[in-house]
Amino acid sequence: MSKRYKVNLLDELKPHVDIPFSDKYVITKSIIARNLREHRGKAVVAWSGGKDSTLVLYLVRQLEPDVSVVFNNTGVEYPETVAYIRELADAWKLNFFETHPDTTFWKVGEKFGYPGGTKHGQKKIRRGTASPHCCYYLKEKPMFDIIREKGFTCSFDGVTAVESWVRMFVARDKGTCYTNKHWDIKKVKPILYWTEDEVFQFFHDERILLNPLYERGMTRVGCMPCTSYKTWEEDLRRENPKLYSIVKFRKDGYYQLTRQAIETLHSSGLKVALLTKAGPLAARDFDLLERVKLTQLRFAFDEPGMATIFTEKIRLVQETGLCKQPFIYVLVGFNTTFDEDLERLNLIRRLGCRAYVMRYDTVRLERRYNELARWANMFWSFAKYDFQEFVRVVRQ
Ligand code: SF4
Repeated sequence: MSKRYKVNLLDELKPHVDIPFSDKYVITKSIIARNLREHRGKAVVAWSGGKDSTLVLYLVRQLEPDVSVVFNNTGVEYPETVAYIRELADAWKLNFFETHPDTTFWKVGEKFGYPGGTKHGQKKIRRGTASPHCCYYLKEKPMFDIIREKGFTCSFDGVTAVESWVRMFVARDKGTCYTNKHWDIKKVKPILYWTEDEVFQFFHDERILLNPLYERGMTRVGCMPCTSYKTWEEDLRRENPKLYSIVKFRKDGYYQLTRQAIETLHSSGLKVALLTKAGPLAARDFDLLERVKLTQLRFAFDEPGMATIFTEKIRLVQETGLCKQPFIYVLVGFNTTFDEDLERLNLIRRLGCRAYVMRYDTVRLERRYNELARWANMFWSFAKYDFQEFVRVVRQ
């Protein structure tokens, strides 16, 4: 069987990984059998719906069909993964538990930063651990709680060493079985030395149902908006463009925006950060930013040619809940025609925003521009009438 690793194999792991599959399979089964024996009735399989944990579940069930199985549903799973897990749990009649966190991915992200990728994400990884805050709150803590509640003493995990450098070093240092002192539980990784090809081949040979996301070319099937791995942007943009925009905005845009608030100490500075690409947030600013309370967002919409991007960004601001009714400044009579000015204002109105018209000096005395400003700058008239109606009413 061909060998395919995502990272170069550490020399210390080669004797475990580069052995014939038939030998490896025998070792895996004996690891499972020994630990089931030692932890009779107190073992649990941690199942995420990914290929590795599904494989471990399959293997453990061959020896103990009634083993406890826990799925830590983070609340931001792919619907396909949740459907797959529930379908298989039914089909295999699993002794199945599903946990839910008492917070959300978004709340944890806003508080501690989104995982990986940016400086502030890296800084916010919890001290003494390699996993981000969201992994702790959405997966580890619910798992820890159910371990305590049910009295599990051994957890079978679907982890392979060849998946990443971090996993490879952990595999080198700890091997397939070790005690996690913090959780007071034995961690068992029966397929630690399997390659990705061997895993897929086994699914094929045993005709095990695979999470359908793999057939769509996805390499990971965990949390949908996860930003902790290298290719998250291209994966999410392809799978769910809308969610991608929201995550991108929250991860980068939100903090660029608030950094501007601090740097400029003036609300009009906010518009620049949101509608242009500012640099990434400096980690040292983060604590300061967390204290900023935004009460109103103000933007300038001066270029009629920016209508599409303006619409997209304003919708994003509204959809993410950052501000339902942003305030938009519109410079009129400068390098635009009256009709173009009116068109911009009508777009702002359709988006449900408030507007403030600023007349350029050369048009200040023109009646139609004065009417335009009176109409747009009074919230009630802008909300109630279109411009033609307003003019009719005020001229009566
Ligand atoms: S997989 Fe990603 S998004 Fe999900 S909890 Fe872990 S770091 Fe957070």
